[in-house]
Order: sequence, then structure tokens, then C-alpha cells
Amino acid sequence: MADGAGATEPIHIMGAGLSGLAAATILAKAGKDVHVHDVRADSGARFDGDFQALENWTMDADFFQQLEQWGFDASQFRATEFKVVDLIHPDDVITQPKSDRVAYRIVERGTAEHTIDQGMKRQALEAGAKIHYKSRVKEEDCTIIACGPKGTSAVAYGEIFKTSHPNHIAFQMKDKLAPGAYSYLIIVEGVGLICTCLWRKQSKSERFLNETIAWYEKHYPELDRTPIKRVGGKGDFTINQRYKQDGRYYVGESGGLQDFMWGFGMRMAVWSGVLAAQDILGECDYETEVRKQLLPYVRTSVANRWLMNRVGDGMFKRMCRRWMKDQEKRGDGLVWIGKLFRPAWYKTLLYHLVTPFMLEKDSKAMGRGVRRMPFRKAKRRDVWQQSPEAEKIGQQWDDVHRGGGKISFANDSDEPTISSE
Ligand SMILES: Cc1cc2nc3c(=O)[nH]c(=O)nc-3n(C[C@H](O)[C@H](O)[C@H](O)COP(=O)(O)OP(=O)(O)OC[C@H]3O[C@@H](n4cnc5c(N)ncnc54)[C@H](O)[C@@H]3O)c2cc1C
Repeated sequence: MADGAGATEPIHIMGAGLSGLAAATILAKAGKDVHVHDVRADSGARFDGDFQALENWTMDADFFQQLEQWGFDASQFRATEFKVVDLIHPDDVITQPKSDRVAYRIVERGTAEHTIDQGMKRQALEAGAKIHYKSRVKEEDCTIIACGPKGTSAVAYGEIFKTSHPNHIAFQMKDKLAPGAYSYLIIVEGVGLICTCLWRKQSKSERFLNETIAWYEKHYPELDRTPIKRVGGKGDFTINQRYKQDGRYYVGESGGLQDFMWGFGMRMAVWSGVLAAQDILGECDYETEVRKQLLPYVRTSVANRWLMNRVGDGMFKRMCRRWMKDQEKRGDGLVWIGKLFRPAWYKTLLYHLVTPFMLEKDSKAMGRGVRRMPFRKAKRRDVWQQSPEAEKIGQQWDDVHRGGGKISFANDSDEPTISSE
């Protein structure tokens, strides 16, 4: 059953997220009988209105051009382009990397019509794929495994709110608020998201979000925030010895095709779904192409993550300064960040040196030789009490929650709540 090469043999895909839907669209367009199964009630239900950024600096190719080449229609979902971002240094200085090129495209995840998940779903359905929601299938019975994260290497928590503030993005590196990672503010068309990412496992995690919101309220006094809901999710960062095993293709986060440093996984999810479909159609070899086209970036991100795990605000400040100096010199804020993400010989070397210590074996990976970046332990400096402002924000959220405000991802949880809604 796992061999989907025959014209009439149905191809079963586990997971109707970005990677699964991308693969389904290409296969269905080629006349295959495609069935996509998802445990949730709809595509995007995992995220419930979260904003995410499609980064556009890692490669020379613009991601939307790639989508077009693969036959996707990016106008099927809303994407808001940004050419400038507030870069918030650890000491609260705010500078602005900018570019003439598109730096980020903000898309919404979820079940609303304009989300990327629904845009990709419509294209899969139009191509003729059949999608079965609330459908549990076995990995052994599927050709493509596209069910997103399994284990937890990091988590992110955010609050969605109404605001009268114009469209805006801010990216903050401050270890206290986002241990080992970053926090961000995204505002699109009157809806805002403040999110913090935790690359170290914490107790009472909600204090990180409350304190982060308090920080943004203080430094962006015109935020005018009315909380709607809290969202979040986990990230699974793995290196796989094999990306195709027993005729099954592991794509997106199920195949560990993620950015270990900062979690920009959407581009690789779609890309790997496309490659798996192309292999099934006899156009390429998935294993070879993943290693050639995607793994160099994943390995670079592993090396970057290893370095990030060893530093704190002092180094974050130096990074911010270097970024701005480079922009002054080159007149383009995307060059420095692009270089950080691009493969280089010394990063490959570092990758080979550090992975034996950095990753742990996953014994349940059906012989694929999966090694996961474990969710790292908290540091002593992560233990602190919320400020009075953060406490107030927590209480405000409790009221909103009691009044019906939803939480799509439980605090301190290792498992996402797979709701049946
Ligand atoms: C809070 C948060 C913020 C993020 N922000 C960004 C960002 O700004 N930019 C970016 O590029 N990336 C971001 N990411 C990462 C990005 O969301 C993922 O890398 C990407 O969605 C992975 O795509 P996927 O197809 O592998 O999985 P998904 O798109 O998550 O799809 C997986 C699907 O499989 C389904 N599923 C799960 N288990 C099963 C099962 N057993 N059987 C059947 N179906 C199953 C799920 O319901 C889901 O629909 C973020 C992640 C999180 C958690």
C-alpha cells in the first residue's frame, strides 16, 4: 500500500498541513488518486489564527516565484509584505533593518478563508485530492508522512488581540523574555500577535508571554490592545538518516525539515512536499534532492542553533550591531541575515563536530535513524517573578479566558491539544 507509483493505486497522505497539501496538489494534478487524512477537523486547526512569517532571505529565489514554478497560486491566501522590521536589541534599543526586496510575507495560519492552510487546501481540492478530516490512519498505510511535529524541541506562546495600530513587525532578542530565542510583534489589518519562543523548557511558561506583552505595551504605547485568544505550538527539530524509508516519504516537520535556529519551517514544508510528489511522479529522487536542496540549510541552522545555545544577551547585542553595520555598508538589511542562514564550509564542519553531543536518538522512528534536538533545560537565570505589569496582563487574560477567550495550546504542555473542533 505504501507504494503509490501505480496510476490507479490510491496514495494516502498523513496530515493535511502545508507539506501534505503541497504534495497532494501536485499528485492530484498529475491524475493520481490522492487521499489526505488529518486527525483534526480542518487544515490549519492546529494554529487557530496565528500569524507566521514566510522568510525571503535564505535563498536568492523569491519563495512566491518558487510557488508559481511549482504550479501554486499564492493569491489563494492573504500574504502581507514587509520590507522593514523593528529590530529590538537586548538593551531595548530599536533599529530598523530594511531592504528594497520583500523581507517577510506574513500569512495567517488557521481555518479562516484567507489563511495559507485554507488557500493550500482549496488548491488540493480543485486539483482533485480527497481530504478526510478527523481521520486516523497508520503510518505504515501511508505513502507520505506529513503530520508536523511529533516530539518537542521548543515551544512558542502568543496572544492575538485587536488593535488600531497600523501594520507593523518587531523582532526582539532578549534572553529573559524568550530564553534562547526571540519574541515578536506582528500587526496586520487591525489584528496583532505578540509571541515569545522558548528554546528552553520552563515552568509557569505563561509568565514569559505576560512579561513579553508588558514589554511591548511599555515600548509601543499606541498598541491599544484588546486580547482575543492565546495561541502557540511546538517545534520538532530532527536530523534523519533517511527521508524515504520502505516506500514512505517523510516531509515537512515530520521529516525534521525545519530551521533549528529560529523555526522558519513553512518554506521547507511546502518544498519537501513538492519534492516527494515529484519523486512519486518519477521526476526526481526524493532522498537525493532533500539532501541537495534542503539539508544544507537544515545543517547550517543546526550549527547556528548550537552557537545560539551558548550565548546570551551580550552576543545578541553584538549580532544586532553587526546586522546594522552591515546594512550601513551594503544598503540592504537582508544581506547579513541571509548570510547567517546560508550554508558555509565552517558551518558544515561545526555541524559535524557538534551533532553527536547535541541530538538524541528517537527510538520510535521506525528505523529511520532520527536524532532530535531535545527541549533544553531551564537555566538558573530563567527563574524570576513576574513584574506587577505582567501580573496585570495575566489577570486581564484570565478574565478574557473566563469570558470565552480560547487557548489553542496548553501552557507547560509537551503535547498539542488535538481538539475535535
Ligand atoms: C507557534 C509557531 C509559530 C511558527 N512560526 C513560523 C514562522 O513564523 N515562519 C515559519 O516559516 N514557520 C513557523 N513555524 C513552523 C511552521 O508552522 C511549521 O514548520 C510548518 O507548519 C510545518 O508544516 P508541516 O506540513 O510539516 O506541518 P503542519 O502544517 O503543522 O501540518 C501537519 C498536519 O498534520 C496533522 N496531524 C498531526 N498528527 C496527525 C496524525 N497522527 N495523523 C494525521 N494527521 C495528523 C495536523 O493536524 C496538521 O494539520 C511556527 C510554528 C509554531 C508552532
